[in-house]
Amino acid sequence: MFHIVDTRVLLCWGLTVVSAAYIDLTHPVNEKTVYWLKEKFELEPTVRRTDPYWAASNKLSTPEHGGTHIDAPYHFNKDGWKLGQVPLNRLFMVEGVLINKTEEVLKDPEYQLTAKDIKDWEEENGALPSNCVVLVKFGWGIRYPDRVKYFGLKSDDDFDRHFPTISGDAADYLVQSGKVFGIGIDTASPDIKDDMIFHRKTSKHNIFILENLDLKNIEGIPSRGFKLAIQPMKIEEGTGGPIHVVLVNDEKEGKEKEEDKEVVK
Ligand SMILES: [Zn+2]
Repeated sequence: MFHIVDTRVLLCWGLTVVSAAYIDLTHPVNEKTVYWLKEKFELEPTVRRTDPYWAASNKLSTPEHGGTHIDAPYHFNKDGWKLGQVPLNRLFMVEGVLINKTEEVLKDPEYQLTAKDIKDWEEENGALPSNCVVLVKFGWGIRYPDRVKYFGLKSDDDFDRHFPTISGDAADYLVQSGKVFGIGIDTASPDIKDDMIFHRKTSKHNIFILENLDLKNIEGIPSRGFKLAIQPMKIEEGTGGPIHVVLVNDEKEGKEKEEDKEVVK
């Protein structure tokens, strides 16, 4: 017997389950995965056998920086942590906060988040917690995986990108707070100019960046009071790599575990 309780939203299309306690912030990795340049994720079948039993295996090939992924500090800081060196306490069940600028981006698709925006958020929600990851939602993820729309291009052969970003002074403010392990966004990069100022200022302090997050399904998530489980492949020498990110809503988590017990019975 299977019952749906009001605190949980179940969208069952195949095996996809979206719940209010655990929300997947990851775009699926497939042939539509968006890369900064025109690159592709490839999954090549290497084994398909039916006799004497079923066996299947693939070979995968991907640039590090595509789809939902992490930029390790080493990406723009030669002395920074490589992917395999980022400490686990900075990735697993880390405190998250959410700054939502969807409405501003509707008015200005090249909106730039500033230090003032972060200070305004703190006025409303209290100071940033220590050891946190700051998520910035621009509402841009609805364009994913349409590469032209997502990068704000005129055509598929255009490289003049237009999308919302984060300013260098916001990077300074986050660094100076001493409270931030990482920043996550629902665009391809906090930087659009070649100076890569946000990347350089943050990676200098071993702060990581999560790019191309899927933040569509976080309606109703409070501005603070949730955790993130950020799970990268342990590419020892990586400058970054694909991640699976799950938001854990503190308020709902205990309750959902109780409900799971009921389902198991
Ligand atoms: Zn990257």
